[in-house]
Order: sequence, then C-alpha cells, then structure tokens
Amino acid sequence: MITLDQHPSGRHFLQIPGPSPVPDRILRAISLPTIDHRGPEFGALGRQVVAGMQRIFQTRHPVAIYPASGTGAWEAALVNTTSPGDAVLMYETGHFASLWHQMARRLGLEPELLALPGTDDETGLPRSWRHGVRADLIEERLRRDAAHRIRAVCVVHNETSTGVTSDIAAVRRAIDAAKHPALLIVDTISGLASADYRHDEWGVDVTVSGSQKGLMLPPGISFNALSPRALDASRTARHPRSYWAWDEIVEMSAGGYWPYTPNTNLLYGLAEAQEMLLGQGLPAVFARHRRWSAGVRAAVQAWGLPTQCADEALHSPVLTGVVTPRGVDADALRRTIHERFDLSLGTGLSKLKGRMFRIGHLGDCNDLTLVATLAGVEMGLQLAGVKTAGSGVAAAMRHFAETPAQAA
Ligand SMILES: *Cc1c(COP(=O)(O)O)cnc(C)c1O
Repeated sequence: MITLDQHPSGRHFLQIPGPSPVPDRILRAISLPTIDHRGPEFGALGRQVVAGMQRIFQTRHPVAIYPASGTGAWEAALVNTTSPGDAVLMYETGHFASLWHQMARRLGLEPELLALPGTDDETGLPRSWRHGVRADLIEERLRRDAAHRIRAVCVVHNETSTGVTSDIAAVRRAIDAAKHPALLIVDTISGLASADYRHDEWGVDVTVSGSQKGLMLPPGISFNALSPRALDASRTARHPRSYWAWDEIVEMSAGGYWPYTPNTNLLYGLAEAQEMLLGQGLPAVFARHRRWSAGVRAAVQAWGLPTQCADEALHSPVLTGVVTPRGVDADALRRTIHERFDLSLGTGLSKLKGRMFRIGHLGDCNDLTLVATLAGVEMGLQLAGVKTAGSGVAAAMRHFAETPAQAA
C-alpha cells in the first residue's frame, strides 16, 4: 500500500496499453451509491448499456455483458460455440493470440495455430509477431478442410503485445471464398472504441472485448457481441457451460437484468463512457487515436528505432511497440523510466521479452500527455546510453502542431 508520504506528486503516467487512464468523469460516475440490481432503476441502466454497446460494436444483434476480465469473454466465445474435440483455426499474431490458443487446448479443443515462419532480418524477432493475419493462409487451410471439421476461425484484431492490427473483413472474405461454414470469432479486447470495428458489416460471428482499454474503464467488464449464426451454433454446441451460457444472459439482459449480480458501479462508468464516446462520435474517436499513433511513430522514427509493427498499413492506433537496439534491455530501460519519471510503459511479452517496450496511446490522453510520455522515454534512452538519431519529442511536437485534430 502506498502511504501518503510516499505518494509521488502530480499524476502518474499510466501509458501501458491497458488498463488505460480513466477520465475523472467516469471515476465520479463509478462512485455513486450502489443500487438494487433487481430494482426498477437498474433495468433502465441495463437496457441503456446494452444498447450503447450495440452502437459501439456496430451491431443490431445481442451483446452479452459479463462481470469478468477479457479472458472470461474469450472462454465464453469458445464454450458457447464448440463441442469438446472440435478443431478451431487460430493465427499467431503475438502473445495474446498464443494465450487464446493455450486456452482452447485447456478447454479440450483441437486448435491449430497458423503463423509466418522464421525471424526477421532487421530485428531477429519472430516474423509472425511483426505482421497481421494473412487471410490467404486462412483461405488455403480452409480449402484443405474438405470435411469441414474446423468449427471456428479465431483471430485477434488489435494484437496488444505487438501493436499490429489485422484486416478482419479480409478474413471473412477468405472464409467465404473457401465456401467454409466456420464461424469467425474475433478478439478486439484492446481495439474496441479506439480502432474502427464493425461487427455486422465485417461478418463477424462473435466479437470479444473488455472494459479497461478503449472504453476507458477499470478492469472488470467484458463482452461477447453475437451474430444470429453464433446463436444458432450455441443451441447445438455441447461444451459444458453455465456462468458463460448465452441463453440466460441474452434473454435477461434484453430487459436490463442479469442471471447473477452484475458489476453495478462499473456499469455506471460504462454508461458514462458510452455517453462520452458516442457524444463525440466514433469517427472522431478513431481519428484521434490514429493521429496520436502517427505522432508517436514520428518520435520513434526520429530516434532511429524500429517499430514492432513492420507493415505500414497495420500500425495500431492504440499502442506502439518500440524495438530497442540489440544489447539494450528494454525492461531495464522501463524500470529506470518508472523510477525516475513515474511513467509506466508496457513490457515486451514472452518472445519479445527485453527486446521491446510498448507505449499506450488510448484512454484519457491528449497531445501533451503524449509529448510528456515521449519526453520520459527520450530521457530514459539517454540514461541507458542509447545513441538516438534525433529528438523524438521534437518530431512529435511538430507532428501534433502541424496536424490539427479533426473537429469533433
Ligand atoms: C488485455 C487483452 C486480453 C486479456 O484481457 P484480460 O482483461 O486481461 O483478461 C486478451 N486479448 C487482448 C488482445 C488483450 O489486449
């Protein structure tokens, strides 16, 4: 526990890609008194947040809201649509895709993990962790599954461990081109409400998301957006399930209630977040994140360091992965920056450990928070003795000054 006299002055810079900084408005909404979750006011709140999530997922179909972290909603997506022993096709874009694959194994599925082979010449890092999902590889694999054993294709939209996005509409086209009945299940836990996402238009069957990233809330709520085909599949899927079962939760939340106690105070926060996001309009929210991402990238380029994302078209609007020069331990750098400047950056996960760090640019940010964040990184690089090509802070300042924000 941090006691008062140890508390650093000013605001902590929480620039990890989730949990993201929570606006004061949302914290205040969460602090309101807890109400009866079976009472009449609650139904109105429940209906309001479900309708708001439909607008944010861009869907006309049901959205299940769980009092759980994102991992719970991953499990919900799998157990509602599959039976033990089913084959599922997954794609290794990074650490989160790998964890989801591990979960599928633990649930008794037979997951297959597609990946680009080998490592990258520039960084020595796995190629598959620097690029997005290759829809052509998915199509080719599905064409070979003449017996249609593969029940679902599971991909991550915004891979939080790398800062690479994937083209979800292209994955849907690949499934259709292969004339394969597999469901499309997508994780956009860190993309939703920051990166453009269209559940219905892109033909997604289940979208998985969570509260503590683009929705600017604390951790603790997660979501499954559904399609009519996903609901059909759930009626014959034989995986044992109870807490995660869509039937009860979808039926009850249509009236604004839950089969068990939902997280009342976080739902106040969700209603507030929806008002902020939908009030500004999703296109303005997406544009804001793209602009921040470009500004941070300008800084990384000026330092002369590679971004983890090697594909210009797929840079995440939510976070930027920065690869440190060989021999510079990215975790030691992060530690120095945290100790000296009270700034938290994301660590390099599993295969990227010590080789890169991640700068989050989502949640309650603005141009100046990001300039200050980049200043913390630049000072850290100097302290670590990294010879940078130029000032990233100056490059980001130029970018932000010369690129006006889209009018909201
Ligand atoms: C954060 C995250 C998860 C895990 O969610 P938890 O809330 O930590 O359970 C899964 N996938 C992606 C892409 C994430 O960013």
